[in-house]
Amino acid sequence: MLTDPNEAPWMDEELRILREAAGRFLRKEFAPLMPKWEKQGRVDREAWRKAGEAGLLCASIPECHGGGGGDFRHEAVLLQELAFNGIMGFGNSVHSGIVAHYINAYGSAEQKQRWLPKMASGELVAAIAMTEPGTGSDLQAVATTAIADGGDYVLNGQKTFLTNGINADLICVVAKTDPSEAASGVSLVMVETEGVEGEGGFSRGRNLEKLGQKAADTAEVFFDDVRAPKANLLGEKEGQGFIQLMQQLPQERLIIAVGAVAAIEKTLRITADYVKERKAFGKRILDFQNTQFKLAERYTEARLARVFVDDCVRRLLDGTLDATTAAMAKWWTTQKQCEIVDECLQFFGGYGYMMEFPIARMYADSRIQKIYGGSNEIMKLLIAREI
Ligand SMILES: Cc1cc2nc3c(=O)[nH]c(=O)nc-3n(C[C@H](O)[C@H](O)[C@H](O)COP(=O)(O)OP(=O)(O)OC[C@H]3O[C@@H](n4cnc5c(N)ncnc54)[C@H](O)[C@@H]3O)c2cc1C
Repeated sequence: MLTDPNEAPWMDEELRILREAAGRFLRKEFAPLMPKWEKQGRVDREAWRKAGEAGLLCASIPECHGGGGGDFRHEAVLLQELAFNGIMGFGNSVHSGIVAHYINAYGSAEQKQRWLPKMASGELVAAIAMTEPGTGSDLQAVATTAIADGGDYVLNGQKTFLTNGINADLICVVAKTDPSEAASGVSLVMVETEGVEGEGGFSRGRNLEKLGQKAADTAEVFFDDVRAPKANLLGEKEGQGFIQLMQQLPQERLIIAVGAVAAIEKTLRITADYVKERKAFGKRILDFQNTQFKLAERYTEARLARVFVDDCVRRLLDGTLDATTAAMAKWWTTQKQCEIVDECLQFFGGYGYMMEFPIARMYADSRIQKIYGGSNEIMKLLIAREI
């Protein structure tokens, strides 16, 4: 009843082969390490290199820059496989789906050649630093500065909640090159941590303890007179950062929506297995009408979510995914993901509350989906502006 991922309208034979290979790799190489990564709050650096060798990194970056030469469909297949196989917290969507695309879209030939091949091999791990302790949703209000000084920018400020924050060697920093301006003062400056960590003024804070996504390293970072060459500015001139962020947002929001739909489908699959197995009062849990009606509703929503997101994938590929539609996809699919995982957990009774049951972990992992990538309230504001 759930859509077969191989039958999505944008799938083809090459993508089915990628899906099969990625799933096999994740089950063999990553799944056994998940308990360790969740305990240490961080994916091993070695895993990034292995993922690079397996072709899982920068899949939608051109081959001439070391990437896989694919498009958004390749990222979507990999995102889905991570969700289907329960590998939560491997920050490839930030690394490959977001930062690599900023470099690919706005980087100079020299910047692309310097960073992308190493990101594709897993030699470099990338992060994006937008959020600050004082501002998250209101990005124009960032207080971090990157002030020109000779051939460098000098960065000062604090960022928080960076996905890959502990592992990252390359950070795309959203900073004000002109603090007297709001949006038009924002630029994206790439900071290579090697050489500036410690004495050079760059430092990392705690690996933050989270409700879910325990294997992800999420950290604060500090810039205290950190120097980055002016050649590390993304784009030809200063002040383009806000526009660059806005241009990339539809893809970033679709990444979250694709993950949400895959998580919904996995939730329903494991719940269906459980309610067919577990008995109470001499009946299977599935035989209670309450279970049947609730699951019937949720399967319907899963189908709607899949059709909507498949359409967004098509639009992204042909260049017609507008910011409003992407915002609709992000808020609605993540809202449904949280509702469905909560309702399904109930069918597991007490076992649903036990971390050894995947549904418990999925419940904890899902909550952030409504907050990051632009909170769902911000998504609704964007939609409402177009009414
Ligand atoms: C696990 C995790 C990973 C993350 N990864 C990254 C990352 O890699 N890089 C990065 O830069 N950031 C990252 N973030 C940060 C995330 O994007 C922000 O937390 C998010 O944008 C919200 O910002 P905030 O936390 O400052 O909340 P605030 O902006 O303070 O908002 C608080 C609440 O008020 C609501 N609100 C705010 N403004 C309005 C409004 N105008 N109208 C109605 N409601 C409003 C919000 O929706 C929210 O519910 C991550 C966060 C987490 C928890």
